[in-house]
Amino acid sequence: MYNFLIDSHAHLYAEEFDHDREEMLARARAAGVERFYLPNVDVDSIRPMLDLAAQHPESCFPMMGLHPCSVLADYKSQLQVVENHLFKNPERANFCAVGEIGLDYYWSTEFVTEQQYAFRTQCRWAIKLNLPVVIHARNSLVDLINIVSEPEFLGMKGVFHCFSGDLAQAQKLVELGFYLGIGGVVTFKNGGLDKFIQQLPLDKLVLETDAPYLTPAPYRGKRNEAAYIELVAQRLVDLLKIDYQTIMQQTTANALSLFNHLPQN
Ligand SMILES: [Zn+2]
Repeated sequence: MYNFLIDSHAHLYAEEFDHDREEMLARARAAGVERFYLPNVDVDSIRPMLDLAAQHPESCFPMMGLHPCSVLADYKSQLQVVENHLFKNPERANFCAVGEIGLDYYWSTEFVTEQQYAFRTQCRWAIKLNLPVVIHARNSLVDLINIVSEPEFLGMKGVFHCFSGDLAQAQKLVELGFYLGIGGVVTFKNGGLDKFIQQLPLDKLVLETDAPYLTPAPYRGKRNEAAYIELVAQRLVDLLKIDYQTIMQQTTANALSLFNHLPQN
């Protein structure tokens, strides 16, 4: 079984880590975190993300996609670059997912139509490539559930990262086959998730930090880093009344299955 933790969603290539990235990774390893899955954001994050993945090919796995907050006036040319990386793969990178993609109505609703177009387009690419999707939802979960329920997307594999909906939405997504990403929010007092996470199947939960964002308690407000995935795992121990070893083994197996990284027999 698995004796390590996985951070299924961490922007470890972000400039917030430029002055201490290797120390940060060493702290994560000391906390038992051995794999880090890196979501792309836009054309500017590709270079630092691929550089980090090339430096640590055994532990850092890159994704490719356009984040909904980066779907702006130039979204067509941004999508073109993403498509090129996924299908022509000029860097020979081994992308583990299409992400992060989704809808974000919190920061702006100016480009909602374009966001939905970009989301559907990237989902189609994921299906073509047999890759999972890593989905970002903010004030947009109703629309996202409707879209992923459309016939052409049924059977698509993926995760709703940093899940923050209600129990009925969580159950609907599990029913559709999605994993739910559990991060720092589960450690917040008014996070909501703590009220019903006991009713969700443990084999559909993956752990994530979303570092450098969404720092768990008691470090809320400071920079988040991958070592803190341990705090998220510990919070699940408290909420689910399941021992740490089991939480670690099951969430790690879930993440490996999500990204098609389970060893093949
Ligand atoms: Zn993210």
